[in-house]
Formats: sequence, C-alpha cells, structure tokens
Amino acid sequence: MNKSVQLFERAQNTIPGGVNSPVRAFKSVGGTPVFIEKADGPYIFDVDGKRYIDYIGSWGPMLLGHNHPAIRQAVQQAAENGLSFGAPCPAEVEMAELVSQLVPSMEMVRFVSSGTEATMSAIRLARGYTGRNTILKFEGCYHGHADSLLVKAGSGALTLGVPNSPGVPADFAKYTLTAEFNNLTQLEAIFAEQGDDIACIIVEPVAGNMNCIPPAPGFLEGLRALCDQYGSVLIFDEVMTGFRVALGGAQAVYGVQPDLTTLGKIIGGGMPVGAFGGKRAIMQHIAPTGPVYQAGTLSGNPLAMAAGLAALNAIRQPGVYEALTEKTSQLIAGIKAAADKHGIPLATTQVGGMFGLFFTKEQAITNFAQATQCDIEAFKRFFHLMLQEGIYLAPSAYEAGFLSLAHSEADLAATIAAADRSFAQLATG
Ligand code: PMP
Repeated sequence: MNKSVQLFERAQNTIPGGVNSPVRAFKSVGGTPVFIEKADGPYIFDVDGKRYIDYIGSWGPMLLGHNHPAIRQAVQQAAENGLSFGAPCPAEVEMAELVSQLVPSMEMVRFVSSGTEATMSAIRLARGYTGRNTILKFEGCYHGHADSLLVKAGSGALTLGVPNSPGVPADFAKYTLTAEFNNLTQLEAIFAEQGDDIACIIVEPVAGNMNCIPPAPGFLEGLRALCDQYGSVLIFDEVMTGFRVALGGAQAVYGVQPDLTTLGKIIGGGMPVGAFGGKRAIMQHIAPTGPVYQAGTLSGNPLAMAAGLAALNAIRQPGVYEALTEKTSQLIAGIKAAADKHGIPLATTQVGGMFGLFFTKEQAITNFAQATQCDIEAFKRFFHLMLQEGIYLAPSAYEAGFLSLAHSEADLAATIAAADRSFAQLATG
C-alpha cells in the first residue's frame, strides 16, 4: 500500500472524508487523492516520491510556479518580525495601494483571509448599501460557501432560491435568485419583475467553477447596464480571474467596470488572503467608517501581505501575461490536436492563463446546463490516465485548469505527449 493510500485511510478517522476541502477527495473521479510532500516550480511531488506536472497550482494562486524564491524570502523575512499583530502594519497599506493601482475600479480595499470571506462581505456591503435583501447569482458560478451563496434556483430563475446544502435555512436562501450564465434575455425579465429589490448581481466574469466558460459578447456589458438602471451593485468575483486572465483581471480584458470586486488566490501568493474593494462611496459604508460590520483577527496579516506584495511585484513585470497566455495557448492547441488525431470530441476554452477542456461534440459550451451534458465518464478516464502519466489535472470535470510561468516548453511538450497517449487509450475503449 503506498503512503498516499495509508494517509488517506488514517485521515478519514479524524478528518471528515479525509480532506479539509471536499474536491480534494477525488470523489467525482474516484480513486485515492495524492498526498503532497512538496512543490517546486511547475511540479508537485507526492509522499511516494512521484513527480507531477501541476495544472491546478493550488487552484490558481501559483501563477509564478510553486515555491517562488521571491515570495518565500519575503515570507521568511516577515516571519523574523512576528507572525500576527492584530494591529495595523505598513505592508497592508502598501498592498492596498498596489491592488488599487493595478485594478483601478478598487478605489478602496479591505483584506480578509479567504475568497469566501471576500464574497460574503461584499454581499453584506451591497445589501447594507442598497437597503435591499435579494441577490442574484448565476447557475454554475461558485462564490465560496457562505449561506446566501449555496443556493440553486428551483424550477426556474423566477422561483425563490432553495438551498443546495443542508444547514442553509430556506428563509435565508429565498433571497438568492439564480439565473443562467450568458442569458441576458432571461436576466432582463428577472429585473423587469424584481429589479427594485435586487441588492446586487454577483458573477464570475469568466466562469471557472463549471470548467472554464468565458462571457458571451455583451453579457458583462448587459449586467452593467441593468445594475445602473435598477440601482443594484455589480460585483465581479475575481477570486479566480484576478491577476490570472490579465494584470487588471477580467474587468480589464472585457472593459467593464464593476462596483465591487472580490479577489483571492494570487493576491496571497499562496498564503491565505482575500480582498474586496470598489467604489469609495460604497466601501465607506464598511465599519468603522460606516454601519456595515466586517472584521477579522488575521486580516492584513503581515506574512500574508508580504507574500502578496512579492507575488504582485513579480507578476506586474512587463511580458508576464504575454508569456502566460502564449504558454496556455500552446498547451491547449497541442491537447486539442492530440484529441482530434484520435477522434476524441473535445472543445477547449482559454482566457489568459486559465483554460477549460470539455469532452463534447458541441462547438462551444456557454452555460452550466451544457457543461453538465459533457461526457463526464471520458473525463474521468482521461484524468486517471494523465495522473498515471505524471500530469496533475483538477479532479473534476467542472474545474478550470491553470498554468504557471514556471511551465517550460519541455513540460508542455511532455503534457501534450501524455495527452496523446491517453486519448489513444480512450479511443480504443
Ligand atoms: N470565488 C471564486 C470565483 C472561487 O473560485 C472560489 C474558490 N475556488 C471562491 C470564491 C472561494 O474562495 P476560498 O476557497 O478561498 O474561500
């Protein structure tokens, strides 16, 4: 029995499902999760000494590759001065100024410790600011696990939201409407009926939690127009896309400015950090300037801020996003060509350093319903074949893939060759 299997068995005695975040358990692909000992550059190494080329990158943060020297040194240096103060520190100010400079719609920023905290707080702020209760999200978009967000629409978007997790009171969930991603016509109808009660729209501007689905032309612009018309707050959840699809996030790629933005992942360089921010007039409603309460003992933590500053300072260098985008395009083109060669139907998507692989005959996947109709069994087999080949893809057909700057030509070529062999096996049944 290898060490990962032993650890997984042991973990299940004291940690529910053996993991501290569900998707890590490999439940949707089957098999035993790989326990990681260390990570470096584009590679992760499991406890049995096997090396994998990693396309999860800690679910996004590792844009520069694992164990980046500048980030590691910044954290080590900050640790010399103590781990947490529970009081303001200079790095927070520097970090807020840098985020605001790189994402100009974030005139003011508040740091938190996770993406969930960021979206939960942004929604409370939108509700407090507008004095309205109802929020609107899109089917297939994930915004963390706060109560209001673990909600799926019932029979249609105009019905009241019902929770999709026990523990979320129905009374609470009824304030969450769910609409179809990329369907502006449906959204216009919802706003015509209930727009005056809608505090905010929250959206992943490029959806990354139903695989990777870019916004249709005009979709984000349409959200902006509806929010302007009805006085609702537009929240871009850029926890995944922030500093991933471009230096200025998806809002820079598509040229649409939200009122509030949430960030996470890359801004911590691997440390637990999230942030929400936006228009000064809205952000000033947060305590202590305003009445909307939000707080955190470890918020603005000096180690996390040091890591974040080092990460952002490295990725703002010229040429970073061109290189990342080029590498990602090369990978996707290679995988697609290998699939075509073996007659495996595959659709692909890419925005900057983020990509999606869909096992489908459709030309394009634009929403959650379509994503769920892809060939999940083919994905599962492909996932395990690639894992055996030493390629670490997300263990779910509904997750986006992430590249890092550390992935070399040789890593990409090895991945494409592994995909070619895996598709060959899939094709023979
Ligand atoms: N928003 C988005 C778009 C996410 O992808 C995630 C996590 N994958 C979250 C929010 C929640 O972030 P966290 O897991 O740090 O709480």
